[in-house]
Amino acid sequence: MPTTVYRARRILTLNPSRPDATHVAVREGRILGVGSLEDLAGWGPLELDERFADKVLMPGLVEGHSHLMAGTFWRFTYCGYFDVRDPQGRTVDGSPSLEAVVAVLSARAAVMDDPVAPLVGWGFDPIYFGQRRCNRHDLDRVGATRPVGVMHASGHILNVNTAALEQAGLLRAGIEHPGIPLGPDGLPTGELKGPDAMGPALAVVGLNRSFLGSDEFGIRAFGQLAVRAGVTTATDLAATLGDGEVDELVRVTGEADYPLRIVPLLRLIGMTPADAVQRALALRPRSTEQLHLGRIKVVADGSIQGFSARLRWPGYYNGAPNGLWYTPPETVRQAYALALAQGVQIHTHTNGDEATEMVLDQLEAVLRTQPGPDHRFILQHCQLADAAQFRRMKALGMGVNLFANHHFYWGDQHRDVTVGPERAERMNACRTALDTGVPFSIHSDAPITPLAPLFTAWCAVNRLTASGRVLGAPQRINVMDALRAVTLGAAWTLKLDGEIGSIECGKRADFCVLEDDPTEVGAERLKDVRVWGTVQGGRVFAAA
Ligand SMILES: [Zn+2]
Repeated sequence: MPTTVYRARRILTLNPSRPDATHVAVREGRILGVGSLEDLAGWGPLELDERFADKVLMPGLVEGHSHLMAGTFWRFTYCGYFDVRDPQGRTVDGSPSLEAVVAVLSARAAVMDDPVAPLVGWGFDPIYFGQRRCNRHDLDRVGATRPVGVMHASGHILNVNTAALEQAGLLRAGIEHPGIPLGPDGLPTGELKGPDAMGPALAVVGLNRSFLGSDEFGIRAFGQLAVRAGVTTATDLAATLGDGEVDELVRVTGEADYPLRIVPLLRLIGMTPADAVQRALALRPRSTEQLHLGRIKVVADGSIQGFSARLRWPGYYNGAPNGLWYTPPETVRQAYALALAQGVQIHTHTNGDEATEMVLDQLEAVLRTQPGPDHRFILQHCQLADAAQFRRMKALGMGVNLFANHHFYWGDQHRDVTVGPERAERMNACRTALDTGVPFSIHSDAPITPLAPLFTAWCAVNRLTASGRVLGAPQRINVMDALRAVTLGAAWTLKLDGEIGSIECGKRADFCVLEDDPTEVGAERLKDVRVWGTVQGGRVFAAA
């Protein structure tokens, strides 16, 4: 069997026993050995490959919280505030105002043949546009005959036009729903908050979750985005995973040149906890090397910048009413009890500190009556947790995946509008996680923010907001701790740390190939480290 040895300028292994090396030997998609050429000679005939001789290798980056729709969304029109890169690496301009959003959507409408086909935008972020909320009349200017739906950057709110409201059966008086604000005319304004309120309108504009998570174009685009970011394993953190969707995922990820290992989590929504646990168990045997099934995602509350997260006293800084329970506490407890009994792992989205407290209470109650050895239940986002809550996580054996990118994208808004100066500084408390010994990772939640773990690491190291303010300096972590969080840390949250996350004998041959050394460029330039591409399962993928 052929063995390839890659020589590199430096290999940053993230294995504390042998942190640095110059050569790595790969056989059958796995790492045979790491060290000097001399160290590897004992393995028999080796083929020396010099293509990375001037590059730096580190473990393939692991995105512990992303969504496959980050690929699928590229079918639609980007409406976000910041410039982004598409799967081909081209820059797509952001929209600095509501007028600009309407203009970019109108431009797309102008080239569509069918006057009644739905038009979808994504990445919309009106928190940058002042107090006025977008309403259906704004989007009627894009199209009066076709349904128009614009997904907010948070993924928790959808704005629609009048035609979409009508087709969803929502253009009527007398609606009483906390997620459906009404205008002075007694009709919905077109803003739909939370999965419940969005549901019928998502179907009308063609944004159903099963499509978003199994679209062949989307799976391929997601793979391209990953290679550009140095990512070799990524989650699809809230999938529906019907039989046809799983077939499609198995098929595409199994192709000889598909560059990404995907870990989809089954979202508990529209089914009982018992059905979700049974489904997760039934899916487990369909796992392959490139597709890992059998985990569950629960969403406890909404988003902080959308004011749909559940906060403890004193609530939102601007006086907005408290957010929503997406999954009621009783259902969370049932899911935990059943999953622990069957050895199924659950990741739970909490944003507000009341949601985090609720989850800690439920897990503690369940663990009091039934054992859960190495359950590795993970809190996802967990943005507003305080130190006492981290101590409870530690005591309960939980891990956490913090949303470090939030400092950059919404840190200024958190300080000024959502939670105020003090609580904004404790958000995504990486330092507290380290100090309390809670295993942690950091994430992008792509497509909420772009898939780019080195940028995410930069956010955790520098905690800079978009306006250049350092928000919560004491919560900064060092570069090595941040690199560990986006490799071994994320692998741990998926119970894959024995397979991936570091470069050492026996693990998968997954490498992130870099032009620059992330430990030498300086903390403030970590986000500028150039990614050449990846090696995944021993196969080489160039980003360019
Ligand atoms: Zn998410």
